[in-house]
Amino acid sequence: MKMWFYEKHNENYQVAWRVSDILYQKKTPYQNLTVVEFAELGRALVLDEAVQTTEKEEYVYHEMLVHPAAFTHKAPRKALIIGGGDGGTLREVLKHETIEKVDLVEIDEEVIKAAREYLPFLSQSFNDPRVNIIIDDGIRFVKNVKNTYDLIFVDASDPVGPAVVLYSEEFYRSLFDALKEDGVVSVQSESPNFYPEIFTKIVTTLKDIFPVVNIALAPVPAYISGFFAFTVASKCYNPKEVIPKINFATKYYNEDIHQACFALPNFVKEMLKSA
Ligand code: SAM
Repeated sequence: MKMWFYEKHNENYQVAWRVSDILYQKKTPYQNLTVVEFAELGRALVLDEAVQTTEKEEYVYHEMLVHPAAFTHKAPRKALIIGGGDGGTLREVLKHETIEKVDLVEIDEEVIKAAREYLPFLSQSFNDPRVNIIIDDGIRFVKNVKNTYDLIFVDASDPVGPAVVLYSEEFYRSLFDALKEDGVVSVQSESPNFYPEIFTKIVTTLKDIFPVVNIALAPVPAYISGFFAFTVASKCYNPKEVIPKINFATKYYNEDIHQACFALPNFVKEMLKSA
């Protein structure tokens, strides 16, 4: 039997994935949650018909959301993850040996339950004693927090449904307030090639709020095509001045990638200039 999953981006562009198995399906109060086995990229989490992460290439996204920002801070101790209910970002944050506590705020506890059951390569760190899982809306949680975190990671789904609020100026201002005076935030910032409006809005809004803003680019195989962006916004440290001392295993990120990932192609520079 040949079963295909179509991820539709617009009237002109869709991606087809051959499905070997559907492992789990649930309509949660927030979204349609599916765990499938793709013939090409292994197990995958799909939310509202959008592929979130896949077994064979998830390391690119999770390492690039976390390490460029985490190494930008000299000695991060307390981190916050907004979204990230699959656990992949958490796994990478905990690789930093100075980290003492991570709060993970996920709106949909069904994502966490499904990841525990079907995606152990991502959810392996949920039981680490440094981890505190909070089921709540990220914007509601962060509004009540001031001057608390060294690092914040926004591991949100696309700006539809419950994640829309995680792309607002109000949310980014709350992140600034929740960070300590030398804090750093890393925000998944979509595809400059295919979603230029969302990408430029994230970057320009963060530039209005944070003194130091840089964009890291990486090719994430499961996301549409071309580059995927991660914005690193900081109150003082500049990621471009950092030479990371990496003392754990990674599959994508390394010292050379840290230096190179902040280099922007001209079309991205132009996009930001005219925004
Ligand atoms: N890596 C993925 C991507 O870029 O496609 C995103 C990972 S996925 C695990 C994002 C998570 O954000 C989902 O589990 C979703 O439930 C959660 N989420 C969406 N809106 C949220 C909100 N307002 N507060 C907290 N978590 C939220």
